[in-house]
Amino acid sequence: MPESDRASPQQLLRDIWGYSSFRGMQQPIIEHVAGGGDALVLMPTGGGKSLCFQIPALLRDGVGIVVSPLIALMQDQVAALHELGLRAAFLNSSLDAAKAREVQARARAGDLDLLYMAPERLLSESGLRLLEQCRPALFAIDEAHCVSQWGHDFRPEYGQLEILRERWPQVPRVALTATADIPTRNEIAQRLLLDDARSFVSSFDRPNIRYRVVEKRDGRSQLAQFIRDEHTGDCGVVYALSRNSVEEVAALLAAQGIKALPYHAGLAADVRARHLRRFLDEDAVVMVATIAFGMGIDKPDVRFVAHLDMPRSIEGYFQETGRAGRDGLPAQAWMAYGLADVVQQRRLIELGEADDAHKRLSTAKLDAMLALAEAADCRRVRLLGYFGEASQPCGNCDNCLQPPELVDATEAAQKLLSTVYRCRQASGISFAATHVIDVLRGKSGDKVLRFGHESLSTFGIGADWPEQDWRVLLRQLVAQHLLEVDSAHFNVLRLTDGSREVLRGTRRVGLRRQAPAAARRRRGAAAAKPALQAQPADAALFETLRAWRAEVAREHGVPAYVVFPDATLHAIAASRPLDLDALRSISGVGDKKRDTYGPALVRLIAEQA
Ligand code: ADP
Ligand code: ZN
Repeated sequence: MPESDRASPQQLLRDIWGYSSFRGMQQPIIEHVAGGGDALVLMPTGGGKSLCFQIPALLRDGVGIVVSPLIALMQDQVAALHELGLRAAFLNSSLDAAKAREVQARARAGDLDLLYMAPERLLSESGLRLLEQCRPALFAIDEAHCVSQWGHDFRPEYGQLEILRERWPQVPRVALTATADIPTRNEIAQRLLLDDARSFVSSFDRPNIRYRVVEKRDGRSQLAQFIRDEHTGDCGVVYALSRNSVEEVAALLAAQGIKALPYHAGLAADVRARHLRRFLDEDAVVMVATIAFGMGIDKPDVRFVAHLDMPRSIEGYFQETGRAGRDGLPAQAWMAYGLADVVQQRRLIELGEADDAHKRLSTAKLDAMLALAEAADCRRVRLLGYFGEASQPCGNCDNCLQPPELVDATEAAQKLLSTVYRCRQASGISFAATHVIDVLRGKSGDKVLRFGHESLSTFGIGADWPEQDWRVLLRQLVAQHLLEVDSAHFNVLRLTDGSREVLRGTRRVGLRRQAPAAARRRRGAAAAKPALQAQPADAALFETLRAWRAEVAREHGVPAYVVFPDATLHAIAASRPLDLDALRSISGVGDKKRDTYGPALVRLIAEQA
């Protein structure tokens, strides 16, 4: 693209990408990097990080080198650049020797705008030699949090990327990540020697994502119902903790006619690769996966992320849910949460190999996550607050849309805790939740009679509450360390220092109660539904366009969203352009796509008129 030397960032954005204006901090970042400055870019998923190095690479002489940790990610980004008419290639272990030589020759000849490299490839002797022989326009270090040892995406090779500054001190480096927590940011800057870099910190809010936490009863049926009711025909990701559970849930959803596929480290590599390809390329695939899945998955039209098990930190939750709705269209983050999640996660920390300091840190992170799950106020305010960002109630989370009732449950908590205490005192052993709730509610089953607990003074004092309410209260107490579940001993309940404060009356307990179902339906139905489904002005035309896109994607061997994202298809369906100029004015249609797809699209639209 020789004329790019003279083009402005705006012109490139308009002509190549077909977008009318920059988003958020894109423009200052692009100007800074194009001018030779180093940058640390912190932007949420879907914020538009790619342009922040792609446009400067076009503006500067030489080839933009992009370090990227995942092969699938590189392939799709390069395919997307080809669709835009740019000269891009990648070097990673998926290429055979001949193909790799060809790419290297193009890089040396200055015949590439962008070259994506796996870190180990770049750091190899031949990789570094190649960089000596071509002229790097800039280094972009994508998914830069991989340099952090604390995060779960740690990649040792990322730690050696400091060599880039040592060998090419004049070449600007831009590190990009969607990881919002401050320790990780600091570690990135430190390890990549970005001390002179300018930081560009965007808001981490993802306003199009609706956060929801539901009380887990039968999580799997709740999930199936959620998908059936609200996401028929949508693409989504479901996270579960264990491989077993991944397999079972995928089978259960598939049996209900949902295109669900399992993905976990125990599957053969070729099965995994096939499932990933289908998820990326086809419409309406639901990927059921362990958390290992998803880093760097660039698919923009994921309409929901569902958690069947609670993540162990807010960082993890934010990163995983962030994979929904990159295209900016409405999306949902749904999580089923129950007492078992609390118990299981605490146990995982306890059993872990980590030293005490690390265990304390893990416990603190888990507690923050629990507080988010138990919250009765705006989830987004809490989420952003965790990352140091102040905000106002969002109107797009479950608690904003259907505010739960918050009641003073101190007295009830005292009843529960004293029942735990009295059972133990009477029998010399501790009991689990079911037994304690039976005693509270005055149910004289076998076990209650066997231990003589029907004669305890607390027997039946909680008869006015249904079992479910006691379970919710119990879970909330456990989440706040006001009661403990000993998972190593039959899940028996034990009092804590906090319990004593509650019993003494020096600490009050609030209970979050979901509004009754009927009221919820009344309020929810009106508020929740319309915003959720992206309603194309012309649903029939949208479906036609989607089918056309699927066909083209198959022919070109690229993911459907690389041809056009959903947002662009919606815009086309709404405005029905009948000539190339009208089509070109739609966001996401640049010169190259107008020329490649315009004639066929205009014909298709005319036929549907
Ligand atoms: P990130 O890497 O930050 O998750 P991407 O770079 O993949 O985000 O961008 C997300 C989506 O937003 C892509 O579909 C991209 O084409 C689109 N996008 C980026 N910048 C703009 C812009 N200025 N105007 C419109 N769409 C944009
Ligand atoms: Zn809210």
